[in-house]
Amino acid sequence: MPVTAPVLPAFTLDKSDESAGSGKLVKCGSPVCHEVFAPSGLAIEPKRFCNNRCRMTAWFIKKAGEAMKDLTDAEVIKVIRG
Ligand SMILES: [Zn+2]
Repeated sequence: MPVTAPVLPAFTLDKSDESAGSGKLVKCGSPVCHEVFAPSGLAIEPKRFCNNRCRMTAWFIKKAGEAMKDLTDAEVIKVIRG
């Protein structure tokens, strides 16, 4: 029975520990894309997606999630899968 759960890894996990070695690559911001690319764009608005399609996909998924926030997980899967 764990008395003290180690919480620290959860905080360090989503920092920049994935791109070891090859410079600082950015993972595409789309949750359904695994593309990585060299950072570009304005410093105040860095490029977050590998292409425009991924940008739209991420936006769409976010909006769909908002629209389905009151559904159960099973219902969400049913809606998405058709
Ligand atoms: Zn992408």
